[in-house]
Amino acid sequence: MIDLRSDTVTKPTQRMRQAMAQAEVGDDVYGEDPTVRALEETAAEMLGKEAGLLVTSGTQGNQIAVLTHTRPGQEVIVEADAHVFYYEVGAMAALAGVQTRPLHGVRGQMAIDDIAAAIRGNNIHYPETGLICLENTHNRAGGAVLPLAYMERAYALARRMGVPLHLDGARLFNASVAAGAPVRDFAACADTVQICLSKGLGAPIGSLLVGTRDVIARARKWRKALGGGMRQAGVIAAPGLIALTEMVERLAQDHERARRLAEGLANVAGIAVDVSAVETNIVVADVSSVGMSVSEFVAALAGCGVLATEFGGSTVRFVTHLDIREEDIDDTVAAAAFCSRAR
Ligand SMILES: *Cc1c(COP(=O)(O)O)cnc(C)c1O
Repeated sequence: MIDLRSDTVTKPTQRMRQAMAQAEVGDDVYGEDPTVRALEETAAEMLGKEAGLLVTSGTQGNQIAVLTHTRPGQEVIVEADAHVFYYEVGAMAALAGVQTRPLHGVRGQMAIDDIAAAIRGNNIHYPETGLICLENTHNRAGGAVLPLAYMERAYALARRMGVPLHLDGARLFNASVAAGAPVRDFAACADTVQICLSKGLGAPIGSLLVGTRDVIARARKWRKALGGGMRQAGVIAAPGLIALTEMVERLAQDHERARRLAEGLANVAGIAVDVSAVETNIVVADVSSVGMSVSEFVAALAGCGVLATEFGGSTVRFVTHLDIREEDIDDTVAAAAFCSRAR
């Protein structure tokens, strides 16, 4: 099977498995796991923040950030297609007791003026604006990079208004590699950043939340409250360290392959792809003219050995990653051409 459903499907490399087997461990709830500490320090250092916190997943990292920055009854400004709003099971409302203020963005970017207008003033009727969330790269915008200049403007506004900014950087390293800018430059435009080890970086489990020492100390308590205080978690942290130190540069290869896949799919009758919109490792294809429904098309592709995801409306998402080889791209394009009934 050529599995292009997500970059989460990667299996740990041999080096990661060896590192897991050999990891020095301790009880991390007591702060005694040296491998977890090394991972948290490495992530904080790479992202230019004071402290880091290993969390079980990207969702947990984002939700801990919301819990740490806000109080119940506050409002959180989010892009209407953001993961934290779209794909996190309503956790912001259920756990933090906040309401969301979704704003429609273009390629994942809410207009700065729209954010400014959405920040609540001082009126007895209004909730307080407790947090602004950005996502980079933006998943539902097809892996779009939020440019550094945009991030800087958004953060300048947030600071001026005294509202904290959380960056969902599940794929921030993809943004950094695509933009040719250090990941810490993006992280400098946010109070807290969540990064996933288990996406393009290929680790089996885990995310990190980074920020100031004070914010991370409070986040650590929320992690415990959510059942995320893990004990000998060094076995998870060890492959995470390899992900951070050895797996970043190779993301460029995923981006090249995604670009080639987009070009190939764009040439298939019945499939429309905006090739210029493919900046990182995600390709969104419109299959409204292939002569069958999206779910039929995805099933037909699976029958040809290619897995992709229905992505809403008439679109299908393909994500390149560590376990996708060069020849898989050609095979995927051939399978899509075989499955399309359009001629
Ligand atoms: C995958 C993802 C997450 C959540 O990560 P999980 O580890 O699956 O919980 C958060 N934000 C974005 C943008 C993602 O793509």
